Amino acid sequence: MSEHDDLNKNSLEQASGSNDNKKKNDGYERYCFICRRPESVAGKMIDLPTNICVCADCMQKSFDAMNNSGFDYTQFMNMPGGLMMGFGDLENQMPKQQKVKKKKPEEKREPILNIRDIPAPHKIKAKLDEYVVGQEHAKKAISVAVYNHYKRVATDTMDEIEIEKSNMLMIGPTGSGKTYLVKTLAKLLDVPLAITDATSLTEAGYIGDDIESVVSKLLAAADNDVDKAEQGIIFIDEIDKIAKKKNTSQRDVSGESVQQGMLKLLEGSEVEVPVGANSKNAMVPLTTVNTKNILFICGGAFPDLEKIIKERLTKNSSIGFGADLKDKYDQDKTILEKVTTDDLRNFGMIPEFLGRLPIVFTLQGLNEEMLVKILKEPKNAILKQYQKLLALDEVKLDFDEDSLHAIARKAMKKDTGARALRAIIEEFMLDIMYEIPKDDSIGQVTITQAYIEGTGGPIIRLRGQEVPLLESQA
Ligand code: ADP
Repeated sequence: MSEHDDLNKNSLEQASGSNDNKKKNDGYERYCFICRRPESVAGKMIDLPTNICVCADCMQKSFDAMNNSGFDYTQFMNMPGGLMMGFGDLENQMPKQQKVKKKKPEEKREPILNIRDIPAPHKIKAKLDEYVVGQEHAKKAISVAVYNHYKRVATDTMDEIEIEKSNMLMIGPTGSGKTYLVKTLAKLLDVPLAITDATSLTEAGYIGDDIESVVSKLLAAADNDVDKAEQGIIFIDEIDKIAKKKNTSQRDVSGESVQQGMLKLLEGSEVEVPVGANSKNAMVPLTTVNTKNILFICGGAFPDLEKIIKERLTKNSSIGFGADLKDKYDQDKTILEKVTTDDLRNFGMIPEFLGRLPIVFTLQGLNEEMLVKILKEPKNAILKQYQKLLALDEVKLDFDEDSLHAIARKAMKKDTGARALRAIIEEFMLDIMYEIPKDDSIGQVTITQAYIEGTGGPIIRLRGQEVPLLESQA
């Protein structure tokens, strides 16, 4: 008898939704049936029959939509299913449990660099130095630009001397650390960061993402907090892919038009963006974000730009006695640093676009020395990560210097910059990470050049016979 009562009670509770109130703190929260935003974002949910709930915004929108379509409310209550008629045949698609796991609130970290009291450029660069190897010029340029930008934002002095935005254009080969530099910076400043690929953008109305979607990505990265998003950073990668297409008679919806479309974003304008979704539609609430204080950083590899620079340099000095030899710049590794806006225009970027990216700097391709440093020096260097992993098994891991150079040489061959390092290390660490935990007596593993080149194995020492790291590296 009592069992029967219990069952009845349960099913009643489920139907009325009162179960939710009891279990408020079970780590789950309800989400809106229409826009899918959880209660913590969309606000209190309104319960509807058949166990579904919607947020106040969507409810309002549904009513507005009915109003506009001249719906006769006198029919409202006579309809089967009452309110549910607004949702058509959704009853069959009803979820069993309309709840999502609540996100754990992130513990509040103090930012390492505070944008309200922005530290001097040399301090910003010193922090970047801990993570990013080499690229001295780029780190200096980005530190100064960020310093000026956030000083402008913090003081908000927009009198007659209006300080221009310090949007940036980064030019550098793939894997040279462009994205990494921006990511590190955003982490240090604790500002939201959105990373987009310019290749996915198209003019509004065509297949692809609208240009304004970059702002909604930033809003999402800022947990839908508009104030926070308005001080964030947007990184647009592969910007060279939206260069003006040459010799085309078709409409250039993913090239020049995208550059045109980005002009007002870069300069600062009010953009209407959907909250909690990446495309605008009737059911998604919109909010306005001002891009005036958003820092835009564009990055690209600009292949063939070197050729354009070389051509300009040799043309300038090809007549008369002082004429340069044609191949004078062929071996010049720093040729990219000589880039001018004219070269970028020849590449296919439109002048209005370039005008809104006043700070242009280049990153160098990485050489063997730099790759070795990347392996071992940054705060979260790959080697340190593996050492930490094996230290948990109480095994010391070290690499002799020659092995690091061998890895770097292998990576150079792949021509993908530092990105190749991880793949190479993963490959030969697999066996080690598999075999070592098998045998408790192993105390130290030393990776050698021979092991990397496939002509030998690592040196393995038993517990009690370990040598200090420095000695084994000699
Ligand atoms: P891209 O220039 O193509 O954007 P990334 O920034 O994505 O290259 O670099 C790929 C990875 O290589 C990064 O995640 C980072 O770990 C490493 N890396 C690249 N350059 C550096 C550098 N200068 N210092 C430290 N790590 C680097």
